[in-house]
Amino acid sequence: MKVLVINCGSSSLKYQLIDTETEDVLAKGLCERIGIDGRLTHTKSGSDKVTKDVPMPDHDKAVSIVLDTLTDAALGVVSSLNEIDAVGHRVVHGGERFAKSVIVDDEVFKAIEEVSDLAPLHNPANLTGIRACMKLMPGVPQTAVFDTAFHQTMPDYAYIYGIPYEYYEKYKIRRYGFHGTSHSFVSKRAIELLGKPAEDTKVIVCHLGNGSSITAVEGGKSVDTSMGLTPLAGVSMGTRSGLIDPAIIEFIADKEGASLKEVMSVMNKKSGMLGLSGVSSDFRDLDKGISEGNERCRLAVELFAYQTAKYVGAYVAAMNGVDAICFTAGVGENNSMVRKQVVDRLGFLGITLDEEANKIRGEEQLISTPDSKVKVFVIPTNEELAIARETVELL
Ligand code: AMP
Repeated sequence: MKVLVINCGSSSLKYQLIDTETEDVLAKGLCERIGIDGRLTHTKSGSDKVTKDVPMPDHDKAVSIVLDTLTDAALGVVSSLNEIDAVGHRVVHGGERFAKSVIVDDEVFKAIEEVSDLAPLHNPANLTGIRACMKLMPGVPQTAVFDTAFHQTMPDYAYIYGIPYEYYEKYKIRRYGFHGTSHSFVSKRAIELLGKPAEDTKVIVCHLGNGSSITAVEGGKSVDTSMGLTPLAGVSMGTRSGLIDPAIIEFIADKEGASLKEVMSVMNKKSGMLGLSGVSSDFRDLDKGISEGNERCRLAVELFAYQTAKYVGAYVAAMNGVDAICFTAGVGENNSMVRKQVVDRLGFLGITLDEEANKIRGEEQLISTPDSKVKVFVIPTNEELAIARETVELL
């Protein structure tokens, strides 16, 4: 089958056309600045990247440009749209309604709309992409794969917050967790590598990127995760504060004469690695800063590794043990210094890092020594492939 995977943001749209038999990416690309002016970046497998400025007043137009490009004589990879068997959409929030991926119909579309107040920036954009594809590719099955779905197996005591229960009843305020497609993909692979029945495994996945979350996976199921109602919770990230004392919000608002919205924007966009270092949200820039003796870059990265290690420790307690710890996403796959800083704090578990193996970047690798009591893996994530696989399963 050929599955088109779509990840639609408020002004962007990422796509990949995947041949699910070979799992090859036939073409991929990005539409940016939708609703502003519009730019398309497209790569056909085996060819150079092409960038074009094309007007994209809305998502319908962006999807139509993607479909035209995929069928274009020079840039395309299919001769007609009939060759595309299905479209898999990334949807950020499925609320409590969606514990699994689904084929989109009118009722599902409405249900995704109904949980959109939980992800007001993301779900409406995801729905725009679904709507555009339904319109331009009538009859082609569309699936929704949710970032939150994998975490719907968490027990109540792990997802509930210690605030009046009526807020859960009235507004569904609880921990949902995100990056579920990645945590599911990576933990499944770790279970394969462990070579044990899934129900006998305890795995911790550290998805460390610009956004980061850590998940405890017991018996193949998510039992706790560091993000919460929103992706602002958990470890400090590229620009997000992560978990802080909630009273800080009001304190800053009072001191700075700022509105709640303004302070929340600081917590989302100007905090984390960027806010602490004053240099960048990108770990490559932080590494450079550290090599030049920048103390605040050192502080930001040390805090990140420390907080990550603390979550791992907490999840070992949550599962009463651990068989494997996995690093994935941009930082987890590429940054050996961060991995070392995290693993060095976990010596109490009998873990020893294989320093040579830990030099790996972007490839699957066991990075603990043979005598380490817990295995540590680098496992590259592939959310698009996971969405394509889910889509094939659903169909
Ligand atoms: P993500 O959000 O998963 O794309 O991760 C983004 C983060 O990963 C950035 O902070 C980058 O510094 C880091 N990253 C991505 N690719 C690399 C790479 N090839 N080498 C080092 N760091 C990388």
